[in-house]
Amino acid sequence: MEIRTETPIRMMADTVIELPTTELVEYMQTELVDASSRQRTRVFSGIQPTGGLHLGRYVGAVENWARMQDTYDCLYCIVDLHGLTIDYDARGYQARIMGLATDLLAAGLDPDRCIIFVQSHVPEHAELQWLLSTVSSLGALERMTQYKDKAQQHQDNINLGLLAYPVLQAADILLYKAGAVPVGEDQSQHLELTREIARRFNHRFGEVFPEPQTILTKAKRLPGLDGLGKMSASKGNVIDVNDTAEEVWAKLRPAVTDPARKRRTDPGNPNLCPIGLMHYAISSPEQQEYITWGCTTAGIGCIDCKKILNENVNALLDPIRERRAAIEARPDYVRDVLRDGAERARAIAAQTLREAKEAMGLA
Ligand code: SF4
Repeated sequence: MEIRTETPIRMMADTVIELPTTELVEYMQTELVDASSRQRTRVFSGIQPTGGLHLGRYVGAVENWARMQDTYDCLYCIVDLHGLTIDYDARGYQARIMGLATDLLAAGLDPDRCIIFVQSHVPEHAELQWLLSTVSSLGALERMTQYKDKAQQHQDNINLGLLAYPVLQAADILLYKAGAVPVGEDQSQHLELTREIARRFNHRFGEVFPEPQTILTKAKRLPGLDGLGKMSASKGNVIDVNDTAEEVWAKLRPAVTDPARKRRTDPGNPNLCPIGLMHYAISSPEQQEYITWGCTTAGIGCIDCKKILNENVNALLDPIRERRAAIEARPDYVRDVLRDGAERARAIAAQTLREAKEAMGLA
């Protein structure tokens, strides 16, 4: 398959694309696509195999990835090396990676329209990380907010990988010479560090890496069904994209609601309710208006509200379920896609690494 070499974009590992989709695409179309050359911009984005694809990750990022395949040259990466920095189940890791790959394909990523691969299948990521680590400031890494947070959360496992995580992210981005990076606010600090690393490298060894531009995006996050923060596999408060219709309802029916609605006649606030917030992310504008009215006036009950959401969630998941069934009927399909994707990604990555090594006197 053809490997394109146009100006790339990368989205950070496990990033939620936070701009409303149309806004993001419009920005890219107006600012990032060279209209005169009609070149397609490359998009590179990563997702950690910390669990399968749940609804929060789908509407926050992957749904948009699927749309972008027709407008951009996309590389989508399962960033398994990033996932090693916190405690994980090594024996179950391959199954997780393959499960996530299956989910991504079922969610609409099409290997004929994008490159899907696993980070560790392209060893250039780890090799470039080492090269970049020699121009990375230890002080800057220690100041990263995410490092401090994770070090706090995982006090019994503060490892070097956790500290060097942003250098691997920089390698992910720079390996594909990203031109711009759509990131959420929680990742913007890492992208700034990537730029600093590129600057330091170029200053010392000559111009190899473009400094990626930031597209700061606004969150489209789904709350967890328990009402305790965002939907997250580690909290067990998710709807998985491969849940059956029965499983979806079994999760939605007992989900927490606005605590102010103790009785059916009590008005509530959808902004203080996970169900209401999910409506705002998934349901049509008309339905959102109806839910806002019904909740704040006690015009509808919570079960009716959940039934509407249930229908909308299942309408979103039905095509994913159909594609999953087709994929599962072909046992070697996912493995073949990942093998082919790694070869195609590697053709790009190897060229960049060669340039970096030549600049550093290693070749
Ligand atoms: Fe939540 Fe809907 Fe009940 Fe309002 S009516 S509290 S939005 S479930």
